[in-house]
Amino acid sequence: MVDLKTLDRTYVANTYARFPVEIVSGKGSILVDSNGKEYIDMGSGIAVNSFGIGDEQWKNAIIEQLGKVHHTSNLYYTEPCAVLAKMLCERTDMKKVFFSNSGAEANECGIKVARKYAAEKRGKDCYTIVTLNNSFHGRTLTTLAATGQEHYHELFQPLTPGFVHIEAETEALKKLNQPEKIAAFMIECVQGEGGVIPLQAEFVQALTAFAKQHDILLIVDEVQAGNGRTGKLYSYMHYGIQPDIVTTAKGLGGGLPLGATLLNEKVECVLGHGDHGSTFGGNPVCCAGAVNILSRMDEKFLAEVQEKSNTIINSLSGAEGVEAISGLGLMLGIQTKKPAAEVIAYCRENGVLCLSAKDKVRLLPPLNIPMEILEKAITVIKDGCKV
Ligand SMILES: *Cc1c(COP(=O)(O)O)cnc(C)c1O
Repeated sequence: MVDLKTLDRTYVANTYARFPVEIVSGKGSILVDSNGKEYIDMGSGIAVNSFGIGDEQWKNAIIEQLGKVHHTSNLYYTEPCAVLAKMLCERTDMKKVFFSNSGAEANECGIKVARKYAAEKRGKDCYTIVTLNNSFHGRTLTTLAATGQEHYHELFQPLTPGFVHIEAETEALKKLNQPEKIAAFMIECVQGEGGVIPLQAEFVQALTAFAKQHDILLIVDEVQAGNGRTGKLYSYMHYGIQPDIVTTAKGLGGGLPLGATLLNEKVECVLGHGDHGSTFGGNPVCCAGAVNILSRMDEKFLAEVQEKSNTIINSLSGAEGVEAISGLGLMLGIQTKKPAAEVIAYCRENGVLCLSAKDKVRLLPPLNIPMEILEKAITVIKDGCKV
């Protein structure tokens, strides 16, 4: 019998440089590898497992729905889909939701809505979507075009036309000529893959004002920063703005694939029958899990996320080998003196699984990680940062 690593390397496409760990089980914030070694999970499957592994309530919600019906297609009504859409709208003041299966798809939908709205309302030459340098919006050809990082583009030309990238600076807005051709701005309030960088409040205000002045739509990509991750339900809520379109995925399903595109009153009816669709989108099992996840993210829960964030920041600020900490809530980036990969390897060897983002160590623990487990992880990370 060949070992798993050989099997994987032989038959799975070469797109991932995996860590040398095979995860076989877990519970809550603990993951277990094939040697029985335990790790504290500071990555949540990249901000996906909002309540960790095998959360009982989430699991029961899913199992209950599995026992009823697991898939119907969107030709029929199912309860979890409608209930989840209502919950999302009530908590965001948005009006309608389109469900898909991933962040890239949620963004594709947002882009399609923006293009149709702009073409109908402002003319066929109005289709440009302005995004930010250092952003990340997905891997499909259109969301790659939206992504403001050249190195992702090089090998896949030609990408979908109609995207422009600018610096996240108020000055850059002043240089935007022909605003009549801009259909939408698309931003992450906290750039995740770009290095866990929150946008400056002043810039977000200026961008929002510019958009309002010219009837440009504002799309906020909450794929990573959404669903409680930053200590508010959606990260735009830190900025006191109301987007026209909100896209999300990752943590929404609590571990099952689910994407959502939320539409406000301006764009809720832009898409009509047949304009867009998804075979799996709004799957009742995924939605039943998400209803459970979202219903537990109340103000008390979000305050605890913020409290845990403060614990991490207070413990690591000024620690040996820690240069700076960025981010919001439980979406944090640590700038280390040592290369991030070295810190991450140390942590892994010592039972803590961290992620990276650019040259930083990125922390995205389960939102319900118990304080005592978090404190253990911090101790290891602190040691790993020492030079
Ligand atoms: C992960 C991510 C995406 C892409 O999501 P997928 O589910 O991998 O398609 C898009 N935008 C942001 C901000 C992300 O972090």
